[in-house]
Amino acid sequence: MRVLNERPLFASRRAELRELFEALLRCRSIGPGPELDRAFAIVRDALANVGIESRIVMNRFDVPTLVATLDSGRPGARILLQGHMDVVPVEDDWETDPFTPTLVGETLRARGSCDMKAGIAAFVHVMATAAQYGGLTSGSLTLLLDADEETGSDTGLLPYIEEHGLEGFDWAICGEPTAMRPLLGNRGLIWASIEVRGRAAHAGIPHAGVNPVPVLAGLIAELPEPPAVPGVLGGLGPSMTPTVVSAGEAVNSIPAVAKLLIDRRVVPPEDPREIRRELDEFVAGFARRHPSHTISIDFFKEWPPCLLDEHSDLARVAAEVAQQSGFDADFGFDDPCDDASFISAAGVPTLLWGPGDPEMAHVSNEGIALEQLYAAPEMYWDALVRLGVREA
Ligand SMILES: [Zn+2]
Repeated sequence: MRVLNERPLFASRRAELRELFEALLRCRSIGPGPELDRAFAIVRDALANVGIESRIVMNRFDVPTLVATLDSGRPGARILLQGHMDVVPVEDDWETDPFTPTLVGETLRARGSCDMKAGIAAFVHVMATAAQYGGLTSGSLTLLLDADEETGSDTGLLPYIEEHGLEGFDWAICGEPTAMRPLLGNRGLIWASIEVRGRAAHAGIPHAGVNPVPVLAGLIAELPEPPAVPGVLGGLGPSMTPTVVSAGEAVNSIPAVAKLLIDRRVVPPEDPREIRRELDEFVAGFARRHPSHTISIDFFKEWPPCLLDEHSDLARVAAEVAQQSGFDADFGFDDPCDDASFISAAGVPTLLWGPGDPEMAHVSNEGIALEQLYAAPEMYWDALVRLGVREA
């Protein structure tokens, strides 16, 4: 297939891209609120200027999701471009103001520059440029921006998907920072709380109580190890980590309750439901051996892992484009958890592919090499054309 050479067009529009990007960076969008609304308005206006209408959909938590579609009106690939507008809070050792984009050498520094307003700016720029210069000839592009990924997407993307679904999309690109290397998936996690309940008493009369502390210690020692399997595509394997232990308030009192939080990282092809069942069984078995205590487990967060088929058109096309653009084209895997999990779980095969070095996410003096910002829309457009949104 011949590929439209529209790189010169994108190259001539870098100033517009940079302006949009810096406007987004000036919004202190640490979670939902007026500053995030302001960032959404900037995207909405940029798209409205070229005739693309955005919808800002409020969910039951009153958290917005921005949805905008550029549709050819013809059959073809229907592609979702997804990102999160929220950023993590600011560390106190920044050398420049985190919400004033500052050029340091060839790196533009600001909170959210890497994770992930560069990906968002690139998506918006691709859609605006496509709309302005002839539109699509087949299929559609839909931008989906959410507001609370950094805190787990429980009040943003997840209720949006529950309420509206993600029907009809063939592919999704999640623009998280990957340095434009195609990452085929990310790990998942399970967070659970285990409670051991005994009976409180004065520590001077220990036989009057039932102490949960030694029993919880025994349980921690017996926590089931995850299978010793390697990670996917060079990523980390599964892990089971006890993280928070709490019990008691006074040195001379036996507490009634001892609690443990665990963090279990999940790697494809592990099934989170299966892991939960195993943990339920472990706790039930342990409880049978400690009939004087009441022991229970509660699962409070599940993030499924995801993995895109490396033989899919989306994976193949992204690798070709990355290679031709001089970026790392070897498939990789993201160790942290991303929204790609929830989009995949909703039935849309998803690739993690975006500008910004992953090590620059969530650090003080976060920044992005401008070269990556400028390359992203050109690379996305190449890939989208190859996936079939514009006939060559
Ligand atoms: Zn992110």
